[in-house]
Amino acid sequence: MNFDTARKRMVESQIISRGIRDRSVIEAMLKIPRHLFVEEAMAAQAYNDNPLPIGEKQTISQPYMVALMTELLQLKGVEKVLEIGTGSGYQAAVLAVLADRVYTMERIRPLALKARKVLDSLGLLNVNLRIDDGTCGWEEEAPFDAILVTAGAPEIPEKLVAQLAIGGRLVIPVGDQLSQVLVRVVKQADGTYTVEDSIGCRFVKLIGKYGWEAE
Ligand code: SAH
Repeated sequence: MNFDTARKRMVESQIISRGIRDRSVIEAMLKIPRHLFVEEAMAAQAYNDNPLPIGEKQTISQPYMVALMTELLQLKGVEKVLEIGTGSGYQAAVLAVLADRVYTMERIRPLALKARKVLDSLGLLNVNLRIDDGTCGWEEEAPFDAILVTAGAPEIPEKLVAQLAIGGRLVIPVGDQLSQVLVRVVKQADGTYTVEDSIGCRFVKLIGKYGWEAE
């Protein structure tokens, strides 16, 4: 099977059939060649219904999880988005299609450098990448219309809420190290925020000042 066919099948059987409705999210996932974000030896598995290892004990998220998290951000194409946990760069690429500008942060240098190369090769010039602890956010570029954290946090980092614009959405897995709940935080005009639960999930650890301690 070629990669285009595999990608179409992935979108139909894993994403549309599970209830993702946002047409722009579906189109972005049809567009981005996910197999380029994993090791060549694993390219044939890139469209399977599961996360995959990307080195450094990290993973590229399951396609459905990427679609769900992206849909929860409610992007229209004009937003400034922050992603914490660049990993392979795949999620950043999907966001780059759906938002105006993407700022993505990764704490592991070799992953960040690899992601940068793939993003550049696809001509996704609206992605800014920084190697640093994302639990502190990206102060100089705040506020953000949307923030996506793709690693599991012990609690909602207040620093990230502070960097959300009014009406901005923060999507983040929160819980212990074995299982989390994906939550959406929406910042209100008075600075307070609402928290809605989505589904249960299991992500690698968010490590940093306002996350878990490194091992
Ligand atoms: N979004 C990625 C998947 C990320 S896996 C993709 O599409 O491939 C989670 C990533 O978060 C890992 O690469 C991990 O190194 C990174 N991470 C964990 N804590 C972090 C922190 N405090 N700041 C930035 N990146 C972090």
